Amino acid sequence: TQTQLIQTEKMSSLGQLVAGIAHEINNPVNFIYGNLAYAQDYTQQLLQLLQLYQSRYPQRDREISDLETAIDVDFVAQDLPKIISSMQIGADRICSIVLSLRNFSRLDEAEYKPVDLHEGVDNTLLILQHRLKSTVDFPGVQILKDYGDLPSIKCYAGQLNQVFMNVISNAIDALQLKADKETFFQPSICISTRVSADNSFVLIRIADNGPGMTEEIKQRIFDPFFTTKPVGKGTGLGLAISYQIIVEKHGGIIECISEVDQGTEFWIELPLNPQCKVNNLSFNSSLLNSKR
Ligand code: ADP
Ligand code: MG
Repeated sequence: TQTQLIQTEKMSSLGQLVAGIAHEINNPVNFIYGNLAYAQDYTQQLLQLLQLYQSRYPQRDREISDLETAIDVDFVAQDLPKIISSMQIGADRICSIVLSLRNFSRLDEAEYKPVDLHEGVDNTLLILQHRLKSTVDFPGVQILKDYGDLPSIKCYAGQLNQVFMNVISNAIDALQLKADKETFFQPSICISTRVSADNSFVLIRIADNGPGMTEEIKQRIFDPFFTTKPVGKGTGLGLAISYQIIVEKHGGIIECISEVDQGTEFWIELPLNPQCKVNNLSFNSSLLNSKR
C-alpha cells in the first residue's frame, strides 16, 4: 500500500543519511584527534625546553626575555594543556556520537540477528542528548532507567532504534509543552525493560510525566499523518512507522496508556521466539498486572 511505501522509503533514506553523515564526520574528527595529541606532546616538550633554558641562563638578553613575557609561561604550563585536553574531550564526544549514529543507522534489512536492546536505547538517548539538556527555557529531562536482565533479541536493530527514537522524541516534545506552561515542573522519562514471566517476550516501557493526551487523540496516534504539532514540526508518521516496525516486522505489540496531566506510557512487546504466535491476551493481562 501507499503508506507502506512511504514508510520503507522514509526508513531507508533516514538510515542512508545518518550513515553518510557519520562517515563524513569521522574523517575530519580523526584528523583533529591525531593532531591534538601532537599539540599536547609538543606543548610539553616546548615547556620543558623553556624551563630548562630559564634555569640554565638566568642572565638572558633582553630580546629573549621580551619573547618569554609574550609567551606567558604560566599559560603554557597550566592553561594550554587544559584547553587542549578539553578539545580532546570534545573530539572524544564527537567520536562516540559518530559511533552511535553508525549503530543507529544499521538498517540491516538482511540482518535479522540477536542484539542488545539496551544498547539501542542508550544510543538513542545519546543522539537525543542535546534535547534532554537544560536550557534557559527548559529544565532538562531526568532519565530514569530500570533495565531488567534481557537476553539478546532477534530483530532488525536499525528499525527498533527508529522506534525508540520516535517514541522518546515524542516524549521530549510533550515534556517541552508542559514545561512551557508550568513553572516548577521536572520533566522525566522512565525507561524500563523486563522479560515476561513465561520467558516468551520482552517488554519495554517508555513513560513520561508530560501533558498526556485526551481519549480522542489517543485513538488516532497510530494513524499515518495524524499530528497535533504545528506544520513543519510534526509529520504524523513517527508512530505509524513504529507500529509497522513493531507489529508487522517483528510480530510484536505497541500500546499506549495516557492520562491528561499525568503522562504517557508506551509499552512495546517483542516476542523472544518469533516462531511462536504472539498471544495478545496473555500480553494484555500481564501488561495490566505489571502496570505501576
Ligand atoms: P508527530 O510526532 O510527527 O506528531 P507521531 O506519530 O510521532 O507524529 O505522534 C502523533 C501524535 O501523538 C503527536 O502529534 C502527539 O499529539 C501524540 N503523542 C505522541 N507521543 C506523545 C506523548 N509522549 N505525550 C503526548 N502526546 C503524544
Ligand atoms: Mg513523532
